[in-house]
Amino acid sequence: MKPERDNITLIGSGLTGPLLAISLVQRGFGVQLHERRPDMRRVRISAGRSINLALSTRGIHALREAGVYDDIANILIPMRGRVMHSVSGQLTFMPYGKDETEFINSVSRAELNIALMNSAEKAGVIIHFNERCTGFDLRTGVVHLQNEETRTQSVANSNVVIGTDGASSAIRAEMLKLPRFNFSQQYLDYGYKELTIPSGPDGRHVFEMHALHIWPRGTFMLIALPNIDGTFGCILFLPFEGADISFEALDTEAKILSFFETQFPDALRLMPSLVENYFQNPTGAMVTIKCSPWHVNGKALLLGDAAHAIVPFFGQGMNCAFEDCTYFLELLDRQGSDWPLLFSAFEKSRKADTDAIADLAIENFIEMRDRVADPQFLFRKKVELELERKYPGRFVPKYAMVTFHRTPYAVAAQRGAVQDDMLGELCDSVERLEDIDWAKAEALVHQRLTSLPGV
Ligand SMILES: Cc1cc2nc3c(=O)[nH]c(=O)nc-3n(C[C@H](O)[C@H](O)[C@H](O)COP(=O)(O)OP(=O)(O)OC[C@H]3O[C@@H](n4cnc5c(N)ncnc54)[C@H](O)[C@@H]3O)c2cc1C
Repeated sequence: MKPERDNITLIGSGLTGPLLAISLVQRGFGVQLHERRPDMRRVRISAGRSINLALSTRGIHALREAGVYDDIANILIPMRGRVMHSVSGQLTFMPYGKDETEFINSVSRAELNIALMNSAEKAGVIIHFNERCTGFDLRTGVVHLQNEETRTQSVANSNVVIGTDGASSAIRAEMLKLPRFNFSQQYLDYGYKELTIPSGPDGRHVFEMHALHIWPRGTFMLIALPNIDGTFGCILFLPFEGADISFEALDTEAKILSFFETQFPDALRLMPSLVENYFQNPTGAMVTIKCSPWHVNGKALLLGDAAHAIVPFFGQGMNCAFEDCTYFLELLDRQGSDWPLLFSAFEKSRKADTDAIADLAIENFIEMRDRVADPQFLFRKKVELELERKYPGRFVPKYAMVTFHRTPYAVAAQRGAVQDDMLGELCDSVERLEDIDWAKAEALVHQRLTSLPGV
């Protein structure tokens, strides 16, 4: 007979909660999940419904480890590169990777969440919906809950609590009351709004479906990711405030239409419900959250966005949260469920990496909205791919280390910074691949990259 294992309460059945729950149940733990929202399989929830996320190697690895990747493979659309849309409608394709094996996947947040919850319930996880965590006793580990429909209060007792309750975590809010709890949150001055491009008359995608479309305009941008129903989920990123181009300034139908006509004319023609969507959908905020410790008294742990929310511009928030599961479960399997030791080891193994991806995500915001339209930037990308072809495993572009490899994020940031300097030196005043000083490139790769931790 299997020995009885501890009971675990998870708060938050977003993306990470169900995935972690599945793996814990597979290891013999009893798991109960409490989610403040209603069950989205039964009740239509509009917010976040049409948002698509980019799923890549780290996330896929974690899904495979839990044995659920096959359940979601059919809701993924491979995106092989970015298609840049200029104001005049000119399209430029830039591949994400070195060849066709390297691509990212568009997936609907809602569909993915549903698939994960279905798999979790199949595995034996109990999910309680409409149950908001309102408090947590840091000493006893008792969770206080309120039912969002009936307003009744209840408590959950278990051996440990894991907060997978996202960027505005209630479990973290309790930890904030502790002495010497480190916490920082940094909002961008930019907000985002979900918009939609419907499918064409034949139900097909109106743009190339195997790409992420981007309208980079210097200080703002529009992006579009394909959905399996032929639509594109779009996100408009604008400053919150400002007299000219901002969510604050674009406050009438006429201003919105004129703005789109000037900036995104090819998209405007395909967005019949633009104005309706614009006014109906909320404007979201984007925040970077860092905190420590992620755990308290061996009773509670934060994981995913609850521990480290990041801005979305590297397409890594969910991938990083899923990778948390990989690290956590590897330690659990290796050293067992001595919770205080495990929680502490988990944070130690992960904090430098989650700090690094938070910073890389901010950097990438500038790259996406501004630099992807710059010919010199596009040339540097070509040189990067050529260097990777010449020195495989030694020169790997930063984007690839983050997206297509499981190189620890902190190592990707370190190697990436060195490589950026090298590219600066090699590409300065050069416009053609054949004019690059390849002998110097070889020397730089050897001198500067061989001593760094590997990819
Ligand atoms: C615009 C945008 C685009 C993004 N694009 C990408 C992308 O392309 N790729 C990528 O990898 N990541 C992306 N992300 C990031 C990604 O969405 C998050 O990193 C991911 O959702 C984190 O998962 P999580 O499970 O930690 O939190 P969430 O998915 O936010 O789940 C938290 C859950 O907890 C519940 N909850 C909250 N408070 C309570 C409470 N008090 N009691 C009970 N339940 C509670 C919430 O209702 C929710 O269901 C994007 C984010 C945004 C905003």
